Amino acid sequence: MKVLIQKLPVPEFIVELIDELENHGFAGYVVGGAVRDMLLGKEPEDWDIATDASPSDVMKIFPRVIPTGIKHGTVSVLTHNRIVEVTQFRGDNQHAGSITDDLKHRDFTINALAYNPSRHQLVDPWNGLEDLEKGIIRAVENPEERFSEDPLRILRAIRLAASFKFRIEEKTLKTIPDFALRLRNVSIERIRDEFLKILETNDPSGSIESCRKLKILEVILPEILEGYGMRQNRYHVYDVYWHTLKTVDFIPQNSYLRWVGLLHDVGKPKTRQIIKGVCHFYGHAKVSAEIATEIMQRWRFSNAEIDKAQKLIANHMLHNFKSWKPSTFRRLIIRVGKENIYDLLILWKADRLAHGTETKKKIEEDFRTLKKKISRTLETFQVFSVKDLAIGGKEVMEIMGVPPGPIVGEVLHRLLEEVIQNPEKNNPKDLKALVAKIKDIYEKPHS
Ligand code: ATP
Ligand code: MG
Repeated sequence: MKVLIQKLPVPEFIVELIDELENHGFAGYVVGGAVRDMLLGKEPEDWDIATDASPSDVMKIFPRVIPTGIKHGTVSVLTHNRIVEVTQFRGDNQHAGSITDDLKHRDFTINALAYNPSRHQLVDPWNGLEDLEKGIIRAVENPEERFSEDPLRILRAIRLAASFKFRIEEKTLKTIPDFALRLRNVSIERIRDEFLKILETNDPSGSIESCRKLKILEVILPEILEGYGMRQNRYHVYDVYWHTLKTVDFIPQNSYLRWVGLLHDVGKPKTRQIIKGVCHFYGHAKVSAEIATEIMQRWRFSNAEIDKAQKLIANHMLHNFKSWKPSTFRRLIIRVGKENIYDLLILWKADRLAHGTETKKKIEEDFRTLKKKISRTLETFQVFSVKDLAIGGKEVMEIMGVPPGPIVGEVLHRLLEEVIQNPEKNNPKDLKALVAKIKDIYEKPHS
């Protein structure tokens, strides 16, 4: 076992926790990503501890412990307002092993590191330190074995490479395409969470392109692949696929919005038409929203996430906003929801930058104009649904002389239409007069 003596900045609450394990005669190490991050000079997000103590030992030693994953030998220790996962060394055949056995079950050499703060010992059986210095993602021992134990590791390799600007070692890289199909055996929730982390790195397009080259995209997101090599028109420099990837790059580092960006034109392949030698994608926003919904259901996104994506994608075509009437802006905000409208602008700007045909200056200028129009609309118009009208169903029923029923909703919608056109009419007097007028029309005998 290769052990180096080195001092790493382990925070006091972790040092204390490991001391406590040692005082009871057990071993304790910081393991995995936390060691890697300390060596990279980054603050680890989470701290994982490996020990030879069993979960029940750990529960006896510490006063506040939550049995989060007893089956996998994991408990969560609450200490100094932090939660630390403490896991018994993984071994073979249900038997707890040594720290080296534990590290053997980890994915990449840079993650197969352990550190004991009281002895300042860095345990590094597979030269993870060297790979960390060289910037290499390398499977522990045999890539085939590592990827067949858990195919999600192929996505982890791509994510880690992108977040650290590392490269994937040759043999590890060459093995990935052979295991891509096995992602079908991995739960979609795990794939989704890892893929969203990929989108949050500094190189989403490079990582998605790696997924394509390594035959991963065709397994997890074949819909995106359909745009590969699909030429567009004079408004676009790139094919549908590259336009989509560039859009994702232009969206700020937010995994959800980048995901929406990735799907914003997914309906283009289905709507492509050549008319007089020119390529058109009529109705693609709506079709994209439909396909995005199917994909997000398959990926088990929440209904709220799907609903928002649908609204953003279906309404992303704002290109001729300069000729819009004020009521068109009001309608847009009602369709998209005022809580989503600024996210729509982010998507719109990224999409436009990714056309590759106009200067950044021109797009920035249009973006400011559009944003001003939207904020002015929001300042002067507050009627986003029938609930915001100056009169309600009760008044409508009184004037119409009807009981509760579908007519009431129809009339309220008719009032909303009127108010979108003429906001000044949103007062009880004007709206009641309008209801009276509608009543007359209703009551006129049909001839
Ligand atoms: P992050 O910076 O996102 O936390 P991480 O590599 O630390 O990345 P974690 O999910 O926190 O990821 O996992 C902690 C450690 O557990 C990893 O560094 C690795 O040693 C091990 N690990 C996590 N997932 C796997 C996996 N799928 N296969 C093998 N080892 C894994
Ligand atoms: Mg981690």
